Amino acid sequence: MGKKLYTKENISKAETEWLGIPELVVLKTNRDDVGLEVVHRRYFEDEKLLCPACRSSRTRCSKIVDRKLKDLLWLDEDHKTFQIISLLFHQRYMRCDNCGQSVFPEPTEFGEKGCKFTNRLSDALADGTFQFSYKKVCQHYGVPASTASVGEVMRRRIQYRESLLPPVRTPHIISIVEVVFFGEFYPAVLGIWDGEVYCLDILRDSSEETCGAFLKTLDANQVETIYVDPVDSLFNAVNQYFPMASIVVTDEAIQRYARNAMLDIIHSDGKRFPVVHKDRRLTVLHKDLDDRTVVSRIKEGMKSRPRLQRAYNHHQRLLELMETKWSMEDLRTWADQIPAEVDEFLAVGDIIDIFGEQLSGFLTLGEKPPNNYQFAVQGICDAIKDMPHCIFDVMRGRCIFSITHDTMEENGELWRYGIKSSRLIEKINEISANIREERDYGYQ
Ligand SMILES: [Zn+2]
Repeated sequence: MGKKLYTKENISKAETEWLGIPELVVLKTNRDDVGLEVVHRRYFEDEKLLCPACRSSRTRCSKIVDRKLKDLLWLDEDHKTFQIISLLFHQRYMRCDNCGQSVFPEPTEFGEKGCKFTNRLSDALADGTFQFSYKKVCQHYGVPASTASVGEVMRRRIQYRESLLPPVRTPHIISIVEVVFFGEFYPAVLGIWDGEVYCLDILRDSSEETCGAFLKTLDANQVETIYVDPVDSLFNAVNQYFPMASIVVTDEAIQRYARNAMLDIIHSDGKRFPVVHKDRRLTVLHKDLDDRTVVSRIKEGMKSRPRLQRAYNHHQRLLELMETKWSMEDLRTWADQIPAEVDEFLAVGDIIDIFGEQLSGFLTLGEKPPNNYQFAVQGICDAIKDMPHCIFDVMRGRCIFSITHDTMEENGELWRYGIKSSRLIEKINEISANIREERDYGYQ
């Protein structure tokens, strides 16, 4: 392929300027079905591309592949009015004459590899998807909503937003709590400052590697106490990075695992149970139920469900125990007396057994978690559990990068604490409502 297909005569200067993507040149075109035909600016320049395999500059164009992309053009400075345009990009593929090994596409900056959207369109879609459904956002811009593209679109924008965040101010007290989202466990890293719970991040999985990668970004000298969920991999990661800190398992964690077990039993044995909001009413302290009709309906419902009744009674015993100044001995007795047919509680018994040392450590801690700790953790877990289904990156993006972080200034530098739990919960619920009620994305 010797002679070039296009010459400088083919360039449309006015349209190139109008498009405003610095690396692209718009060609005059006779076809009106393709939108703008574009080539890379270096097509008309002498710049030689280096072979990615051998770094030689003896490369030449071997073929041109046409890529169709959607692009977005803002028509005003406030980014309120826009136009969607189609681009037909004639992308060159280069062959290396030095090593003869490689054929590679010319690199581009305006769009990610394989993505059908330019970056500026992708970013606009991602910005909307932080708070609304991807489908509604795509409808707003009038582009096809392919679910294959949402991960790519979000990851790019998350990277950008993450780069804007100030560094984390390492808390003296850290908590690592597994949140459940569509059957998968994701550790949320929380920090505690002055009696408030802040969310620092949500991690992709509970592996030692993933958890360690986050923990090593913190200042180990600042960490005094860690509340960790009773999971081996999390415990090992924490132990590796903060060997000097007190690593404990809290009463909140025990109650949360017991509550989750109780919810499993309610869902299997409590079908058509004659109480509304049974998930909540059957997992709180019986003596705190103030509605008399609910109390009698619980009694009624339990009559025909003996296994549920035994599980309920045993769960109540744990809740009552936790109200008192309990000891490890009390917990072990509770675990030993788990009714034989209520297997769901055995996992809680195992935790008491395996993490006894960390539970004892909790009992002897000088400083207890703040009063609203249990409320905050449960609120975060419940809010995330209730989010409509999406992939992890989107879930994390919505929780961590669409909500303002709390910051503080020290010696002229900005640091962040994370997102205050009350605001996090409120905002997540707002985003879930946007999506669930299919609210339109756009400007009011
Ligand atoms: Zn080469």
